[in-house]
Amino acid sequence: MPRRQIVLSINTTDSEVIQHLREYRFGKNLEKLHCIYCRSKNVIKYGWRGPARRYKCKDCGKTFTDTTNTIFENSKIKPSTWLLIAYLHLKLGLTTSAIARELRMPYKTVWGAIKKIQKAAKFFQRHAKA
Ligand SMILES: [Zn+2]
Repeated sequence: MPRRQIVLSINTTDSEVIQHLREYRFGKNLEKLHCIYCRSKNVIKYGWRGPARRYKCKDCGKTFTDTTNTIFENSKIKPSTWLLIAYLHLKLGLTTSAIARELRMPYKTVWGAIKKIQKAAKFFQRHAKA
């Protein structure tokens, strides 16, 4: 019998998830953009890091991106997979073991992810749609 293929996926790309995150944090037109360290509004666009926009604060001199201090930062889990886990858990109410099975991910990874998703539930409830 052939190995079962992953049938679950979402129609949202990693870049789109990051874009949602950017709009959620900093506004659709970056009107809420502020330094995440000193809260200054004196922040300029400073290139990109992958799909995330990078910024530089002209007051404290620090740089940050759309994903700094979020669960997406330095995560082994792809942004679109984060969204999918959130969808399965928050919207469909799947258990950790069911999600681990469906996505062929280690139970521990999914368990840790769900704990973080619950903390960030406000963002995911707004954006986790299939
Ligand atoms: Zn600053």
